[in-house]
Amino acid sequence: MSSPESNYAELTKELREIAVLSSIGSVLHWDERTVRPPAGAEHRASQVSLIATMTHARFTSPRIGEWLAAVEASDLVRDPHSDAAVNVRYTRRSYDRATKLPPSLVEELARTSSLSEHAWESAKKNSDFKSFAPWLSKILDLKRAEADCIAPGKNRYDTLLDEYEPGETSANLRVVFEALRGPLVELVGKITSSGRKAPTEILERNYPADAQEKLAREAAAAVGFDFNAGVLARSVHPFCTSLGPGDTRMTTRYDEHYFGDAFFGTLHETGHSLYDQGLPSEHFGLPRGEYVSLGIHESQSRMWENLVGRSRSFWKHFLPKARIAFPNATANVTEDDWYFAVNDIRPSLIRTEADEATYNLHVLMRFELEQALLSGDLPVNDLPAEWNTRMQKYLGLTPPDDARGCLQDVHWSGGGVGYFPTYTLGNLYAAQFFEQARKDLGDLDAMFAKGEFAPLLGWLRKNIHTHGKTYTAGELSQRVTGKPLSPGPLLAHLKRKADELYLK
Ligand code: ZN
Repeated sequence: MSSPESNYAELTKELREIAVLSSIGSVLHWDERTVRPPAGAEHRASQVSLIATMTHARFTSPRIGEWLAAVEASDLVRDPHSDAAVNVRYTRRSYDRATKLPPSLVEELARTSSLSEHAWESAKKNSDFKSFAPWLSKILDLKRAEADCIAPGKNRYDTLLDEYEPGETSANLRVVFEALRGPLVELVGKITSSGRKAPTEILERNYPADAQEKLAREAAAAVGFDFNAGVLARSVHPFCTSLGPGDTRMTTRYDEHYFGDAFFGTLHETGHSLYDQGLPSEHFGLPRGEYVSLGIHESQSRMWENLVGRSRSFWKHFLPKARIAFPNATANVTEDDWYFAVNDIRPSLIRTEADEATYNLHVLMRFELEQALLSGDLPVNDLPAEWNTRMQKYLGLTPPDDARGCLQDVHWSGGGVGYFPTYTLGNLYAAQFFEQARKDLGDLDAMFAKGEFAPLLGWLRKNIHTHGKTYTAGELSQRVTGKPLSPGPLLAHLKRKADELYLK
C-alpha cells in the first residue's frame, strides 16, 4: 500500500501538469483577444476546446479522487494552514464541483449560456427586455439545478457565490452591504445637492495615444510592475491574465479624448498583475500558489487604481510627468483642478462608467436583485420595473430604457450569478487593507509624493500575495487587520474625499 506522502506527491505532480496544460489554454485566450486574425476563429475554437477537454478529463479522473481520499485521512493535513492541507482542501472543493455536475447539465449550461449571451446582445441593442426574459428564466433554472447538484439542501445563492468567493455567505454579505448602503446613499445625496461639479473637461482634451502609453508604462513600472515578467498590450476590452510564473499579461485601450480611461484602467490591471507577480511561483499549479478569491484580487486592483492612483499625493509626483507628456492639455491646469477632475463623483446610469463611490450602489442593487431572481421572489418579468425603482432609490436616477437599465451587464446572460458582490468586496477589502498599511508603514502620502511605492507593495507581498490560498478572504482580513470585513474603512475614505472636494 502506498503512503500518504507518495499519494500527495502523485497528486501534486498531476495538478502541476494540469496547470501547465491549462496555461497553454491561457496563451490561446490571450492571443485570441489581442492579435488573432478574423479568419482564424474556427481553428482557434478547436484548439481551445481540445485543451479544455484534455484538462477537464485529467482533473475529473477518479485517480484524483483516490489520491485526495488517501491524503485526507492522513496526518499530512492536520494543520489546516500547512501547504498540504491548503492544497488538498481546495482541490477537493474544485474536484467535487467538477465531478458532481452531470455531463448533460454541464453541456446544457455551456450551450444555453452561449445562446443566451447572443440573445442578450441583440436585446441590449434594441432595448428589448421581452426578447431576453425567456433566456434569463432558462439560465436561472439551470443555475438552480447546478447549485442543487453541488450542495443539495444548501442555500443556492451561497453555493453559486462560493465559486467566486470561497467561504463567503449571503447572510454575512447582507449585513456588511446593508451597513454600507444607507450611509453611502446619504453621502452621494449630499454630494449631488452640493452643486459642486468636478472640472472633468480637463480630462477630455486632446491626449495623444502614444504619449498616454508612455505615461501609463511609466506609472505601471513606478508602482512595481515587472516588465521583465510582464507585458502591456492593447485590446478593445482591457484585461489581465497570468500565463504562469514570470509571464503576466495586461492590456488597455487609449481614447485620445479622455485621459482617465487608459491611465486608471492600466493602474487597475497593474494592481491585478502585481498580485499575480507576487504569488509564490514555487507553488505554481497548486492552490497554495493561487489567489484567494475574486474579491481579494479586485482589492489589489482597486487599491492601486483608487486609493493610490486617485490620491493627491500620487499626483504630486505624477502631474509634473503628465505636464511633460501633454503640454497643451495640461497648460494652466492647477494641481487642485486635476485632483478634483480625477475624483469626479456623480450618480450615473452605467455601472462600468461609475466613480469609486457610486459604483458600489450599482453593485449592491445587483446583489439584491440576483438573490430575489434566484429564489423566485422576483419574477423575471418584473425585473425592469424593480431595477428602475432601486436606481431611483439609491442613485436618484431613472433609466430612459432597459439598455441603460437592467440589460446593461453581460454577467447574468452568461450564467454569472453570484459574481457581482466581488466588485464591492474588492473596494471594501482594499480600503480596509490600506487603512492597516497606513498604520503599519506610517506616512504613505509622503512616500507617494516622492514616487516611493515599494513600501506599500512590499507590505502587500508580505501580508497577502505570498500566502496564496492559505487563508480565506475572511481569515486574511482578520489576520492582517485584526477585524472581520467592515464597511467602516471604505466609508471613511469616501467621506474624507467628499468633505475635501464637495462639502467643505
Ligand atoms: Zn478588476
